[in-house]
Amino acid sequence: MSDNLKSMDKLVSLCKRRGYVYPNSEIYGGFASTWDYGPLGAELLINIRQAWWRDTITARDDVVGLNSAILSHPGVWQASGHLEHFSDPLVDCKQCKRRFRADQIDRDACPECDGELTDVRQFNTMFKTFVGPVEDDASAAYLRPETAQAIFANFRNVQQSSRMKLPFGIAQIGKAFRNEITTGNFIFRTREFEMMEMEYFIPPGEDEKWFKYWISERISWYRRYGLNSDKLHLRAHDKAELAHYSRGTTDIEYDYPFGRSELEGVANRGDYDLGRHQEVSGRDLTYFDDATGQHVLPWVVEPSVGVDRCALAFLTDAYHEEEVPSASGKMQRRTVLRLDPRLAPVKVAFFPLIKREPLQALAKELQDLARSEWLTYYDETGAIGRRYRRQDEAGTPYCVTVDFDSLEDGAVTVRDRDTLVQDRISTAELMDYLREKLAWSREAKTPA
Ligand SMILES: [Zn+2]
Repeated sequence: MSDNLKSMDKLVSLCKRRGYVYPNSEIYGGFASTWDYGPLGAELLINIRQAWWRDTITARDDVVGLNSAILSHPGVWQASGHLEHFSDPLVDCKQCKRRFRADQIDRDACPECDGELTDVRQFNTMFKTFVGPVEDDASAAYLRPETAQAIFANFRNVQQSSRMKLPFGIAQIGKAFRNEITTGNFIFRTREFEMMEMEYFIPPGEDEKWFKYWISERISWYRRYGLNSDKLHLRAHDKAELAHYSRGTTDIEYDYPFGRSELEGVANRGDYDLGRHQEVSGRDLTYFDDATGQHVLPWVVEPSVGVDRCALAFLTDAYHEEEVPSASGKMQRRTVLRLDPRLAPVKVAFFPLIKREPLQALAKELQDLARSEWLTYYDETGAIGRRYRRQDEAGTPYCVTVDFDSLEDGAVTVRDRDTLVQDRISTAELMDYLREKLAWSREAKTPA
């Protein structure tokens, strides 16, 4: 039977070997907590973004998209409270100069060298930069630590141009930056990351209902793309750990190889953000309710998740090592990424049984048909079993093999990554067969 992933090392190693994730600046010895996505990783991220965008925006009448700038007027961060509150308690070791988050160490001395620690001071985790040629306070700007604020700042623009009525949401995907004191666990916590956030604007006081609704929607979303329900958990934040804008936050947690931790946060932000932007900008950010003839300041419920963290959860969940029978019936060990076919980077691989015409020409002809719809791969090197193993590790759900019989019966073999079942399909029907398997509307298989 199959073993789940118990250590991060195996995943990190597979990710590098197959082109999912590489250490950033590796030829210079790497760069702290910074990772680059390779050919398959880049594609996985596209598919995760697409899955989220389709389900959050395309499939609904009440949510629209936005793509805002990373840089913005410093007033945004003054209003949002990030300039004042977005900080972590920091201590320095006077001896070895290492830095720690004061709330993550449980002793008075340095955990590394036992040296004396400085007093706790607040360290703002926004990345500061300067816009234009002059480095002074007037040109200071910040890389956004969340994408949400541009949604609030554009609330009136979007509401009026799209004629949205409460309740409605504005969603966006984009990079954010936090100068975290403590990073780690591969792509789990990095200083540069990508977020998928949605601000759902509601009539004042309807927060309880919508807060529950979005927690339930988001849990369903992870299940739809095959995450194991047993590894998903809800955890409500204590009052003390709530962010400065939040009236209540519930994390959707996942059991990563390093332990249970946050995957997504659903926050009840009340009217904090629109209220603050109205106050600092001096602009009217209320919404006019036709039905009641009243101006109201909407409240907000926000589901927010990191694309990278999502990728880590899906990769962790997909990773399996197992014993399977080879073509000759002998048991062999394989590593397989059982990614949902919609998320899998390469959807279909095409093999000629051996490296010879006309098998090669037919395999390439079929690949050309498929590449208009999906990312495909062609492989003619090595034994067929080895080619399957490579695609198993890459997470490719279907492999199509052209053999000598194909020349006679006009059919090919389609091998399923998970069940290992091989279907004989006529080349005329191949595209429809694959379309059905790879359709976005299909339901996820029950996780193994
Ligand atoms: Zn020290």
